[in-house]
Amino acid sequence: MNYFLGLDSGSTTTKAVIINETRKIVSQAIVPTGANSRAAINKVTGTVLKQIKITPGDIACTVSTGYGRKQAATADKQVTEITCHARGVNWLIPDARTIIDIGGQDFKIMALDSKGNVIDFRMNDKCAAGTGRFMEVMARVLELELDHFSVIALKAQKRVEITSVCTVFAETEVINHISSGTPLPDLANGIFTAVATRVYALARSLITSSSVVAFTGGVAQNIGMAKALEEKVGQKLEVPPQPQMTGAIGAALVAANHFLKQE
Ligand code: ADP
Repeated sequence: MNYFLGLDSGSTTTKAVIINETRKIVSQAIVPTGANSRAAINKVTGTVLKQIKITPGDIACTVSTGYGRKQAATADKQVTEITCHARGVNWLIPDARTIIDIGGQDFKIMALDSKGNVIDFRMNDKCAAGTGRFMEVMARVLELELDHFSVIALKAQKRVEITSVCTVFAETEVINHISSGTPLPDLANGIFTAVATRVYALARSLITSSSVVAFTGGVAQNIGMAKALEEKVGQKLEVPPQPQMTGAIGAALVAANHFLKQE
């Protein structure tokens, strides 16, 4: 049996997925990237191999993607994250025509054709506003764990407007709201709405009324954020079961297709 390894080394987390020849996921893992993406890649690779008791020699082809993809010494091929995310989402949600991916330090929007090819994309990787890092800073200011932060917004009673999306200014604004007694659910909801407005401004031109829109990346696990984004987009978003893994799944699929000469 041949196995195929997909590695996605992001700025915040490094993910690995192994699929077999029938494209079934047989092993997957995620580790923090930390300061050394090569060490994170080695660690996550060791974990996925160990989980199914195979050795590096059992991997027929490895594809790496993501910001740290060049650090994957064992990769046979490096592929951009735009291609890998599109491939992964197309496999999980074949009807998706737009992907909104919010990761640790960037967010990207991709438009796909019916075969999963990327026909257009937009990306914000210049500033933390609207990214997972922004969420982490805000959760820290509110003294909430990320999990709690994401659900507390569902209890909001009143709309609070956060006018700045710059991480530094928004932090000051949130601190001012805390001192004037604004309830945490309203504040969390205000933060997610501000991020959703920023993301939607970039996504709008890539969404048509008939598009199925997928929401991926680590931030797609944030229920409050998904709800705020759904309100902006005006339709339900499709979130795959493990939204952080789509790039690594796509990389594993590219590896299988490359080895089996299907692309
Ligand atoms: P990257 O691929 O850019 O390294 P990820 O897609 O792994 O990033 O996303 C990381 C981000 O996901 C973190 O910054 C964090 O804000 C967010 N995140 C991770 N887990 C959760 C969770 N359980 N709830 C809400 N947000 C989460």
